[in-house]
Amino acid sequence: MSARVLVVDDLLPNVKLLEARLTAEYFNVATAFSGPEALDKATADPPDIVLLDVMMPGMDGFEVCRRLKADKRTRHVPVVMVTALSAAEDRLRGIESGADDFLTKPVRDLALYARIRSLVRLKMLGDEWRLRSATSGQFDMPDDDDTIERELPVTNAKICVVDDMPGLARTLGKAIAGDNSTVELVADAAAARALAEGSTCDTLLVNTLMRKTDGLRLCAELRASERARNVPLVAVLDDGDDPRLAKALDLGVTDYLLTPIEPNELVARVRTQIRRKRYMDALRANFERNMALALTDALTGLHNRRYMEAHLSSLVQRAAHSRRPLALLMIDIDRFKTINDTYGHLSGDEALRVVANRLQRNLRPFDTVARWGGEEFLVVMPEADAKIGRMVGERLRAKVAAEPIAIDGKEDGVEVTISVGVSATDGGLCDLPDLIRAADEALYRAKQGGRNRVEGPIES
Ligand code: GH3
Ligand code: MG
Ligand code: MG
Repeated sequence: MSARVLVVDDLLPNVKLLEARLTAEYFNVATAFSGPEALDKATADPPDIVLLDVMMPGMDGFEVCRRLKADKRTRHVPVVMVTALSAAEDRLRGIESGADDFLTKPVRDLALYARIRSLVRLKMLGDEWRLRSATSGQFDMPDDDDTIERELPVTNAKICVVDDMPGLARTLGKAIAGDNSTVELVADAAAARALAEGSTCDTLLVNTLMRKTDGLRLCAELRASERARNVPLVAVLDDGDDPRLAKALDLGVTDYLLTPIEPNELVARVRTQIRRKRYMDALRANFERNMALALTDALTGLHNRRYMEAHLSSLVQRAAHSRRPLALLMIDIDRFKTINDTYGHLSGDEALRVVANRLQRNLRPFDTVARWGGEEFLVVMPEADAKIGRMVGERLRAKVAAEPIAIDGKEDGVEVTISVGVSATDGGLCDLPDLIRAADEALYRAKQGGRNRVEGPIES
């Protein structure tokens, strides 16, 4: 995986060293020597990640980070603070300014590449969700990514610690006592898998130094599990055991901690994972909501034409393949213009909603009705031939006409009727455009024939 990295440091040798190491690993490197220069470069062409020195004259790293996170253009770019001090206070300030991660100087290669890859992978996933949301929402919805708080709360989380000793869980529990979160300790792999797959777990911490359980194997299983894959996974390893660290990163752990564990770092990393998971969950939920909205007609709540077109083409294909029949009903409200003209547009809308509701209520669950146009609806009925299509069309026509529709300004309601045109695959049609054209022609004949009636395919 390659990525564009912006390296920021006021000292030329530091920049050169990082640049050389990253370039050797095929990262694409840009450099900046001061806070303002970093901001300029990051906004002009946002990188995939920023490595940011904390101590710089003028504007320090914390301030640069704060500004990057406050700007809509660079908010999604992960920032790694590179600090000479491993002081807890520094980390705290870093977190407060919105930093995504920390590296302590001198920076070790494995740690450097691991942090970059993990953050960039996460950013790309986020970019993907945002892009999909924007695409699905572009017609009916503003891009409401802004309504997703990047700084989601880290409280009320459930953290699962997999360990055969209570020490780590106890340290974590104490350190996050104010978060209102729970720490659950499990000792064996099966219990850990069950918890992770139950999807109630916000972060998993696996101690790979356990004696009886193979922690790395468990990490591998968790990453391979469809349902547990989205749960952040933090591995605890021995400082200096680079081969196992490399293996863990290879397996796809989200983050790692080295013994002896520093409580502040433990909390910072766990909280970061919780926040990221919640952010990703929010992005996904937002996408799904936009998707639903983009495919729904706002006035009637029925599927819209865009949905129906996609749905129809797969249904028609399936019908052709299985040689099973399929019927279409093209439905148009009669003299609808008169209702608008007489009672006003809002009453017209109300009538549309009622008709939509009557159509929907009188269809089988696996039939689909969509708003096709202004006062036009399209019904698709799998497993129905022309005869059944006519019968259902007749039932819908009768149900709509049976009861006047109550609208504002007309106490006893207005009579509303529909005309229905039926087409079906059993007449030899199997092409979607042909089916729609045939239903349209049948509808035209129903209108010509006096409205409030159903016409089917012309018998040959
Ligand atoms: P016909 O029996 O031949 O179908 O006559 P009609 O008046 O229903 O047909 P026409 O196509 O002339 O008029 C359709 C009307 O439907 C015109 C349009 O203003 C109205 N219409 C379309 N969409 C909406 C809507 O969302 N709300 C309201 N209130 N009216 C709509
Ligand atoms: Mg009409
Ligand atoms: Mg019409």
